[in-house]
Amino acid sequence: MVYLKTDEEIELLRESNLIVAKALAEVAKISKPGISTLALDKRAEEFIRDSGAIPSFLGYSGFPGSICTSINDKVVHGIPSDNEILKEGDIISVDCGAYKNGFHGDSAYTFCIGEVDEKIKHLLKVTKEALYKGIEQAIEGKRIGDIAAAVQSHCEEHGYAVVREMIGHGIGKNLHEAPEVPNYGSRGSGMKLKSGMVIAIEPMINMGKKDITFDRDGWTTRTIDQLPSAHFEHSVAIRKGKADILSSFEFIEQI
Ligand code: MG
Ligand code: MG
Repeated sequence: MVYLKTDEEIELLRESNLIVAKALAEVAKISKPGISTLALDKRAEEFIRDSGAIPSFLGYSGFPGSICTSINDKVVHGIPSDNEILKEGDIISVDCGAYKNGFHGDSAYTFCIGEVDEKIKHLLKVTKEALYKGIEQAIEGKRIGDIAAAVQSHCEEHGYAVVREMIGHGIGKNLHEAPEVPNYGSRGSGMKLKSGMVIAIEPMINMGKKDITFDRDGWTTRTIDQLPSAHFEHSVAIRKGKADILSSFEFIEQI
């Protein structure tokens, strides 16, 4: 069942999402060659707790981290580790959630570590553009398939592939709620969008093949061809005429 949020609830969702936005910026500030992904996790957790929130991911279905850290060919759900050290030329998707006042925030961004290959930077650019193309469709009266098709067509026009196994979702009192929000599909299909729905749109886009594998840790997903994958996510409220983006990349991008 899709739970429609009141205006007050949407403001609480915005507060949680702004904590996530700032936590991601804190992680961005220290994401340099030589740092471990566990150190990034600790910084995010500290910032979330100092903001009066709880990390949404910590303990979620047993997930051991406060953020997901997915380097290069890892798609999503990478587990922060002391042994995993960032190096020049890496890309890292950092996915973060925060829970406050009964509502979750959820957002993700893929950072460049030092100088990154132009071809990989292009994948990041197109994936982020695809997220905003999806958000343009996230308005009252459109359908889930309009979001999905906008994301998919933009990425495929550039020769990239959309991951099928993981998708976006409704968000609110639960981190993952109905409806499902895939990044592939047909225009005009799926559930009709209504004002007050809040969804996380999160394209996971591969440079090569769409196929992924799951690591033995039960979480980490990787591209089957070991080529890089990018991930950007915003939580947005459906409105008439224009989506209300509750999360923000502003704090990351001003660093
Ligand atoms: Mg997320
Ligand atoms: Mg999400």
